[in-house]
Amino acid sequence: MTKIEEFIEETGAFDCVECGKCTSLCPVANINSDFAPRLIVVKAQEGLESEIKRDKDIWSCITCEICNDMCPYEVDFSGFIQRMRVEAVGMGNVPVCSEAGAVQTMQRITGMGQKQNRLAWLTDDLKVSDKGDVYYFTGCAYQLGILFNDKAPELKEIPANVVRIMNAAGIEPVVSNKEVCCGHDQLWSGDEVGFIDLMEQNVEMIKETGAKKVVFSCPEGFRTFNIDYQGFLGDLDFEILHISEFLMNLIDEGKLEFKETDETVTYHDSCRLGRHAGIYDTPRDLLDAMGVEFVEMASSQEKALCCGVNAFTNCNEASRQLQMMRLLEAKQTGAETMLAFCPKCVIHYNCLLSMEKMPIEREKIDIKVKDFSNFVAEHMK
Ligand code: SF4
Ligand code: SF4
Ligand code: SF4
Repeated sequence: MTKIEEFIEETGAFDCVECGKCTSLCPVANINSDFAPRLIVVKAQEGLESEIKRDKDIWSCITCEICNDMCPYEVDFSGFIQRMRVEAVGMGNVPVCSEAGAVQTMQRITGMGQKQNRLAWLTDDLKVSDKGDVYYFTGCAYQLGILFNDKAPELKEIPANVVRIMNAAGIEPVVSNKEVCCGHDQLWSGDEVGFIDLMEQNVEMIKETGAKKVVFSCPEGFRTFNIDYQGFLGDLDFEILHISEFLMNLIDEGKLEFKETDETVTYHDSCRLGRHAGIYDTPRDLLDAMGVEFVEMASSQEKALCCGVNAFTNCNEASRQLQMMRLLEAKQTGAETMLAFCPKCVIHYNCLLSMEKMPIEREKIDIKVKDFSNFVAEHMK
């Protein structure tokens, strides 16, 4: 069996009947008429492996999984793209890196076993452990907050705030300086070797701590452990929880209380948490439990629009238009703030909001975009 036949079988692409639903609903195809997921699937069925590997279109997909969700034959298009990117990079077809490759450089440094301080955010007032049942996977939020200090400085506060919330509920989570980036961007940029190395380091490190539960504030880390690590390694012997699930359990046990607020918010379903991992209700339940007034955007949950960039590659005009469309929806709710769990969504939306020259009148999209975990910490009693 050739590689492409393997991918077609694993992702169900043989079942495609060329209905075109994916192309008609794809946000990128709706902006760029040269891009069509259906045609990529058809080329795969026809065995045009090297043509797909050379095709720049495999980098235009933002892997939002709208097509996966809407395909009547359940073709896993984003899974197909993920595998084809690894093959494409092997042939020299590489993505265009945004930010002049700064994020990729940061990832390379974090992944190369270079000595680094992953716990620079840890202050004396925070209680953490070396071993225990609950491991908090801090991910790259702090590092991204430093790199994007001009657009989303609040990201630096996420790890400390999550620990603060856990401490308030009587939990002293395990955190580790041996943690490395989860490898999400490496995998979606076609660097499978780099990804496997990071995965092995993280799994080994978590095993050493004896943790039974691993909690993620970042949707990308959550998806990567849940789907990709378990896809490569089989079932991991610890539970994988998103912070929204973990916090809802604490609220149900009466361990967290919140201040009264009259702030109105809307919530952006980041694709890694929503369509990729199926978590739609718990963030909304959390807002309800906090007593926060919540208004839904015109497109939400399975149909939510995406922030327009994937793995910090191919940020372009289509990305800008998608960001603008989403901020327009958020503003139209009348909410003061749009919350998101994904640090990268917060960066990309604030990037558009920080532009001097906007593609639209500023007042139509001008809304605060904030990290959800920080918002929870600010509203604790
Ligand atoms: S929606 Fe599914 S069946 Fe229809 S063209 Fe796309 S991949 Fe094929
Ligand atoms: S994953 Fe998203 S961007 Fe990629 S083809 Fe599907 S709908 Fe389009
Ligand atoms: S939208 Fe994101 S990737 Fe694009 S320029 Fe802004 S921060 Fe960089």
